[in-house]
Amino acid sequence: MAMFDKKSVLVLGGSRGIGAAIVRRFVADGANVTFTYSGSQAAAEELAAETTSKAVQTDSADRAAVIAQVRDSGPLDVLVVNAGIAMFGDALELDPDAVDRLFKINVHAPYHASVEAARRMPQGGRIIVIGSVNGDRMPVPGMAAYALSKSALQGLARGLARDFGPRGITVNVVQPGPIDTDANPADGPMKDLLHGFMAIKRHGQPGEVAAMVAWLAGPEAGFVTGAMHTIDGGFGA
Ligand code: NDP
Repeated sequence: MAMFDKKSVLVLGGSRGIGAAIVRRFVADGANVTFTYSGSQAAAEELAAETTSKAVQTDSADRAAVIAQVRDSGPLDVLVVNAGIAMFGDALELDPDAVDRLFKINVHAPYHASVEAARRMPQGGRIIVIGSVNGDRMPVPGMAAYALSKSALQGLARGLARDFGPRGITVNVVQPGPIDTDANPADGPMKDLLHGFMAIKRHGQPGEVAAMVAWLAGPEAGFVTGAMHTIDGGFGA
């Protein structure tokens, strides 16, 4: 029997990059997977067809839509909140509405989705949020809002782990370093700068992050909660 046979998994933000690798991993391990996307309809439909998962358009900036999607997908054995955006630029110049949208997607949605999922999650359920090593270390200027949003997820995991621990539900954050995706291509202009901070001087692969997520969602990780799990090639070391 596959590890996640008949398990119900929702991945928020699964159409591309790390989220798509997480979708592929859970499907390969036997789960029934639904994932959301925002703008990448073609990529989402292709992935859904390839993996026999279900794609639904849900903007993570829309709190009511996120809560409704989690409710309609439940009861969930596993919730993975991957959807996130980055923003670069002089803090004195950034559009405050754009900054607030980042907070909605990167912070508000993970909180509200996690709480809604927990309402009907069975004993032993799993909530996994994709943070960033930038929640611990922000070595360049121009990314304070992003770093703030990823640090906030640490408080989310610590707090909700206490709320849901009595039901055996675990809440964890996976904190990647540079991973080769559209958002941070391995051959992009930031490559040399990023690799300069790292002990292992390469971008990680989305599948490496998905493997950590799968372990946290699996039966061996039932005693792991309220914790940050960094996978960053030593970026934060
Ligand atoms: P990508 O930009 O490659 O993919 C982002 C995914 O999130 C897409 O599937 C996208 O869907 C979805 N998404 C974005 N905004 C929304 C939204 N408003 N509503 C619903 N879905 C949305 O990013 P990555 O794969 O690189 O990053 C995934 C996560 O990992 C993010 O939380 C990011 O912060 C984190 N991370 C990434 C690192 C990296 O180096 N790549 C390093 C550290 C953390 P669509 O295209 O349909 O909008």
